[in-house]
Amino acid sequence: MEFLKQRIREEGRVLDGDVLKVDRFLNHQIDPHLMKEIGQAFADKFKAAGITKIVTIESSGIAPAVMAGLILDVPVIFARKKQSLTLREDLLTTEITSYTKKEKKEVYLSKKFLSSNDQVLIIDDFLAKGEAALGLCRLVEQSGANVAGIGIVIEKAFQSGRNKLDEEGYKVYSLARIASLENNVVTFVDEAAR
Ligand code: 5GP
Repeated sequence: MEFLKQRIREEGRVLDGDVLKVDRFLNHQIDPHLMKEIGQAFADKFKAAGITKIVTIESSGIAPAVMAGLILDVPVIFARKKQSLTLREDLLTTEITSYTKKEKKEVYLSKKFLSSNDQVLIIDDFLAKGEAALGLCRLVEQSGANVAGIGIVIEKAFQSGRNKLDEEGYKVYSLARIASLENNVVTFVDEAAR
């Protein structure tokens, strides 16, 4: 997705060698126009897959997921990282190790929103080691629903997540694939191959 790659080139900052900060349009400030294009790209890719629900995780997956949900005309459910007073009904739970916070956390999804009839598109902002995406797959599968695909806004292809998802047989579609963040320079997969 050229529009997204351009924004990453212009506004992304590399931290600690393997973390990309995109807080100007995705992780803190959100650009709704860019989110709409991202949602459209996911919707175009998965429109023939019979998607009935989108599942993401709070907080940065929500914006792209909602845009895709609007275009595919399906509800969007986000996994919660904290159990709250309002989240008391039957829950699906799994443990996810947070890439940026380096800690294990239980995440929650209410059982009532998914059933074995659902074809689910999982959407997240980043794919690194695959913890978040695989955790969301586990939650969806616990409900009996099927993971029809996984949409990722920014994939760090030099980390292990993509291989893990491919090995499990999931259909993964990433809008921007980063080959390297070495020397604080963002190199995309298609550029690295040239
Ligand atoms: P994974 O679970 O695949 O190891 O990492 C993906 C999750 O960690 C995403 O939900 C995202 O929030 C966070 N993450 C991983 N790498 C990055 C990164 O380079 N930049 C940002 N902003 N978040 C990241």
